Amino acid sequence: MVSSVFSIDVEDWYQGIEIPMDQWDGFERRVEDSMSRLLDLMARYDVTATCFVLGRVAEEHPQLVQRIHEAGHEIATHGYSHAKVYDLTPERFRRELRRSIDLLQDLTGEPVRGHRAPYFSITKESLWALDILAQEGIRYDSSIHPVLNWRYGIPDADRTPSVIDTPNGEQLLEAPVSTYPLYNVNVPCGGGAYLRIYPYWLQRTLLRRIEKRGEHVGIYVHPWEVDPNHPRLDLPFRVSTTHYWNLDSTFPKLERLFQDFTFESYRDAFSDERETLAA
Ligand SMILES: [Zn+2]
Repeated sequence: MVSSVFSIDVEDWYQGIEIPMDQWDGFERRVEDSMSRLLDLMARYDVTATCFVLGRVAEEHPQLVQRIHEAGHEIATHGYSHAKVYDLTPERFRRELRRSIDLLQDLTGEPVRGHRAPYFSITKESLWALDILAQEGIRYDSSIHPVLNWRYGIPDADRTPSVIDTPNGEQLLEAPVSTYPLYNVNVPCGGGAYLRIYPYWLQRTLLRRIEKRGEHVGIYVHPWEVDPNHPRLDLPFRVSTTHYWNLDSTFPKLERLFQDFTFESYRDAFSDERETLAA
């Protein structure tokens, strides 16, 4: 059976709700506590994850990055400022990527090989980012979501991890989080808000069907999703509903997922593919 991959987008509760970085100063920092809950849970079930750490988090909480690394998880990058890639110029994207990679590599002493864009924001408008990722030493990316969503998605992109040729001829392993193909629609079931929205039996059924197809299961969460008591802000309706929906359910659902599936990091699950790319 192919392995299941677990990942965490390591960001604080106010960083993924479209509030620009220059307004982050006044918010309560909670990411260390919520990450501790996830680290403890993963240790209990012997789960190894890939942690896509936001550069700004690494800057403010260097000891957290070291703690994640020492616990055996893979450190990868989630960019620096949590801006959507399609809102950045290629030059700014490269600068922020470089800054986040340097911060993480200085803390762990190991190269950063994986990337996930904030809000899965590599879309048809920002495919240029794939070339920059490859040029900056990234070997795999998990930013293209083959679904239709108001913020992201390339609905006809490959659902399964595959080596892709970037627009300017670089190569990169693109490893999307899980979707299940139903008729001609890809049903998202790779975690985040969907893990909170679906009842557990439905989540499990979709993932088991993906396994039966011989495909990797790929699930992700954010630390703030296991922190149901984080502050409530008055946000635009669609941001607020997806962010605050059913937060109480994340932790118990994760525990059941860890009982029902065996998870590892992207580093371990795709080591063969990455060998080919590194050659
Ligand atoms: Zn994020």
